[in-house]
Amino acid sequence: MTQPVFHDLISDSQLRKAIDVLGYEQPTPVQLKAIPAAVAGENLIVSSKTGSGKTAAFLLPAIQAILARPPVNPSSTRILILTPTRELARQIVKNAEQLLKFTSLKVGMVCGGEELKYQKAMLRKNPEIVVGTPGRLGEHISHKSTDFSGLEFLVLDEADRMLDMGLSDDVLKITNTCRPERQTFLFSATMEQKGLRHLIKQVILGAAEEIYIDEKPNAITQQMLLADDYKHKEKLLVALLQKSTFEKVIIFTNTKLKASQLDNLLRYNKFRVGTLHGDITQDQRKITLDHFRQGRTTVLVATDVAARGLDIPGVELVVNMDMAYSGDEYLHRIGRTGRADNEGRAVSLVDAKEWNLTKGIERYLGATFELITMPGLKGKYQGPDKTKSSGKSVGTKKKTTAKDKKDDTKAPKVKVRERDKKNIGNRRVPTALKVVAAVDGFAPPKKKITKQIDDNDE
Ligand code: AMP
Repeated sequence: MTQPVFHDLISDSQLRKAIDVLGYEQPTPVQLKAIPAAVAGENLIVSSKTGSGKTAAFLLPAIQAILARPPVNPSSTRILILTPTRELARQIVKNAEQLLKFTSLKVGMVCGGEELKYQKAMLRKNPEIVVGTPGRLGEHISHKSTDFSGLEFLVLDEADRMLDMGLSDDVLKITNTCRPERQTFLFSATMEQKGLRHLIKQVILGAAEEIYIDEKPNAITQQMLLADDYKHKEKLLVALLQKSTFEKVIIFTNTKLKASQLDNLLRYNKFRVGTLHGDITQDQRKITLDHFRQGRTTVLVATDVAARGLDIPGVELVVNMDMAYSGDEYLHRIGRTGRADNEGRAVSLVDAKEWNLTKGIERYLGATFELITMPGLKGKYQGPDKTKSSGKSVGTKKKTTAKDKKDDTKAPKVKVRERDKKNIGNRRVPTALKVVAAVDGFAPPKKKITKQIDDNDE
């Protein structure tokens, strides 16, 4: 049977062009099921995780529909997307702008942290699509700055998380102002969430098609290696790769420059490498990915942007050369391994400046990364000096030098808000990821890793 291609699902030529530019070749499982049902006019209840391609699954059929018909009410928003966090809203807006590239439709974002008056001015311009967080949108409803009387599509993204965050009253305040004849799509990582059915009954008016995609947790072993500095990280990376036998590994780095430098370093160490970053042309990107898929290269170095949405089977290991800048980005990265019921492994290289960020991500995920070491490469940095922070120091307390202070100010801020923290241990990981304790401190997910690395071997 031939694999379906995107053009089988979407007929609008402007959208097809945008899909081609984005490089989406085949629909993801959620797209394959949700798009035809949405095009047929159904309401949808979809269980699907971040990273599964769900944004395009709801955006594409909704955009295609509004491109094909006149608005019900020209002053009303046509597609409204509610999402729990600003970060997700931003991602959706970005994805929408990419898909709208060859159309004249506009998208607007309404989240907290920005002045209301600017958002009001933006809403007066009537963008066809509005993406927002429930709290701020609720405020706009009170100010009567929104018009959803002619709404054609309502999307609730990550509905489970909105419930976790106590946003259901705001959600209902908004949905009650939406045109009842709309189509409604509700996406949730799990359907087990308490109160979800109640919410569904109130927002989905009429029958709905239920779609379940891969609710089974994937097992990803999450580990970290401490590093003194970037040079140390490079040595750790080379040793990590040399000591493991793998068919496919993806290495994430935060900048294009570092990606290119890593490419050189790994080539020098005789690895078969391909690199993806924002300056790589679409044609080159396709070639690099084909080589990696076919096994002609075994290591893919990538920046976050370049690696978005990669669905490559058989990635055994993801390495974070730089720590991801947020919990969601970390999830996106490690979601490249352990796909389709395979086990996976993620190793993050963490230096002093990334310690707080890493701990924030652990809290966000409700997980603890297993600390491992590389034989002969254990550095000086072993986490924060507890005698400094605990106040329970015994003996001499190290004085804080001017340089320490300067470094402190450089420490990356953890992008985890209080709101998100409320869900700790509650939602994110239990369904999406399972932290697997390694048997010997460095247990390979598969037999393919030949040499064991002894955690305590110095
Ligand atoms: P999402 O689950 O919507 O957050 O999507 C994760 C990433 O996958 C985004 O960067 C999308 O641009 C990308 N993506 C969505 N659909 C596809 C597809 N069919 N092929 C390749 N990438 C995709």
